[in-house]
Amino acid sequence: NIRKLIAGNWKMNGTVAVLSEIETIAAGTPDSVDVAICPPFTLIAPASGRGVPIGAQDCHSASTGAHTGCVSVAMLKEAGATLCIVGHSERRADNFETDSDVRAKAEAAQAGGLIAIVCVGETLKQRDAGEAISVVQGQLAGSLPENRDGLVVAYEPVWAIGTGRTPTTGDVADMHAAIRAVVGPAVRILYGGSVKPSNAAELLAVPNVDGALVGGASLTAADFLPIVAAAA
Ligand code: 13P
Repeated sequence: NIRKLIAGNWKMNGTVAVLSEIETIAAGTPDSVDVAICPPFTLIAPASGRGVPIGAQDCHSASTGAHTGCVSVAMLKEAGATLCIVGHSERRADNFETDSDVRAKAEAAQAGGLIAIVCVGETLKQRDAGEAISVVQGQLAGSLPENRDGLVVAYEPVWAIGTGRTPTTGDVADMHAAIRAVVGPAVRILYGGSVKPSNAAELLAVPNVDGALVGGASLTAADFLPIVAAAA
């Protein structure tokens, strides 16, 4: 049985003033569940040391160099990060990241000692065309690193992110089984997309759902802790 991981992705939200939420999360997390919070880059250092593992939302694949505005894995580690999200659909869409870019970032994260959380997921158009599983299989083939040690995959249907809509538990089960067939028994497969206190228990009970990647509901301990409790 894989320990469940509830990871929060704060996206471009948060300030130093709200970092006390992290201590509240640490105090309220049962021993049986793993949690992590991925704040913006500037909050990684001040968020660290508050009892919750801290992750980044992206990294560069190179170790140093002429990449204005980018941050390397070693820099993230030095700031206190132990995990790194790569290939989030917002970065694939807004920053034109390809599967091979995502793989290079995941490999860099692993090589630098960070746990990589590789995100995949179909658009609504692809789901409606019956292509959801084949699209995700293609993303996995193109963006997963060869090394599966400690690897985490997050299935986030693009149309479920920030919309309040979620796939049926049957559709989540089918997708996670398809991902399991690719990644093997030890890789954690998270579900992400409009996870809330009200639907967490149902989603976390689906076979092969080993946790959640939570956006909006990770910004306060009041929303996040009931999701964590649903994983215990
Ligand atoms: P929401 O939980 O806000 O839908 O965001 C999901 C997400 O994109 C997490 O990475």
